[in-house]
Amino acid sequence: MTAQTTTPPPRLTADSLYRFFRAGEEETFALRGVGLRVEKGEIVAVTGPSGSGKTTLLSCLAGLDEPDGGTVHVAGERLSHQQEHLRSRLRARYIGVLFQSGNLLDHLTVRDNVRLVQRLSDGAGRPGAQELLRDVGIAPRAGALPRQLSGGEAARAGLAVALANDPAVLLADELTGEIDGETERRVLALLRERATAGTAMVLVTHSRAVAAVADRVLRLRDGRWVR
Ligand code: ADP
Ligand code: MG
Repeated sequence: MTAQTTTPPPRLTADSLYRFFRAGEEETFALRGVGLRVEKGEIVAVTGPSGSGKTTLLSCLAGLDEPDGGTVHVAGERLSHQQEHLRSRLRARYIGVLFQSGNLLDHLTVRDNVRLVQRLSDGAGRPGAQELLRDVGIAPRAGALPRQLSGGEAARAGLAVALANDPAVLLADELTGEIDGETERRVLALLRERATAGTAMVLVTHSRAVAAVADRVLRLRDGRWVR
């Protein structure tokens, strides 16, 4: 038996991420050496003008895109430059993702979307689907299909899906863009509660309310952090 007193690894680390896109003659440097470390229970808000690299960063952190340089680790395990099936497994186990394109499957009800993610993550002690939907305030829409939801309802259903595997890390792109005052407050209270329970979060946002609940606010410009 080994009795080691090592401190647990940060929930999420990115070391000098680079990402380039080439279209014909044109070369875009979306990320130019971006590092990040998010500890258990920490909420980091990422702001920055359009085109500054926010979505590219989140995609790399989620293992949905591969950086051209640098590495991403989640819960101490390397996520970047792994085979796709391994990345999918790490994602299902550790990460909740909500992009603007949405994460709801069209042919499943809201409730079944949440249940599917729970089944794929096969962890014990997940919150029930109905409880999650109640937490985000759309329990009455549990039987609806995604196309029957308003923008704000879809965003909240997407959040329920992103939280369904009780992720170590939550990554969300403009989560509250479609959500108004009172509901935004409720969603932010839920996020804070989840962070207190241990989830680390990176929230891309333009919302002051979101930045206000964050432990740190970071700003990207032209693929780099700005002081
Ligand atoms: P943000 O989310 O901050 O608006 P993005 O990460 O979407 O910024 O984009 C950063 C830069 O990378 C932009 O110049 C964008 O046009 C470019 N970009 C992003 N994705 C692609 C892609 N798949 N192909 C080519 N260029 C891309
Ligand atoms: Mg974006």
